[in-house]
Amino acid sequence: MFLDRQHRLLSYHDTWLSLDPIRGCPYRCSYCVLRHAGATGTSPIQSASPQKCVQELVKHPFFVPTQTQLAIGNETDMLHPRNCDYLLNLLAEIKAVGVNNSISLITKAPLSKETLDSIRRISGNQIRFFRKVSPFLPTVCIRHWYGRDIAA
Ligand code: SF4
Repeated sequence: MFLDRQHRLLSYHDTWLSLDPIRGCPYRCSYCVLRHAGATGTSPIQSASPQKCVQELVKHPFFVPTQTQLAIGNETDMLHPRNCDYLLNLLAEIKAVGVNNSISLITKAPLSKETLDSIRRISGNQIRFFRKVSPFLPTVCIRHWYGRDIAA
């Protein structure tokens, strides 16, 4: 979220190109920047279809195929149960157009084997899962997968 609090589908951060088709998070983390926009403890709202996301992504001036690090869902928790179906559809769309850049997902939602298996079946991308365990600790990467066993 930017100071102007305008929602952007795509924004370039220091670390990645952030794709944010959903805004609002059912969780209520007291430190979350989204609270300034009243976007915590709320139902996630979709602003674009997965197809639209991919169309906009591939024409973004800073998108470089195979190179640009992507992140999905920095204005929600994409692995919250309410967002999982959307995430799976988006990953399928990304795969369908041949985008194979690495993707980061940040979550504190429970990671079920079912969800991880679904991601594994769909995606050919390198996916990094970052698990927030405490507001006082750095974000911790708990999974690093490149077409191998994500749930091992
Ligand atoms: S899970 Fe993430 S997006 Fe949701 S309230 Fe907590 S820090 Fe914010």
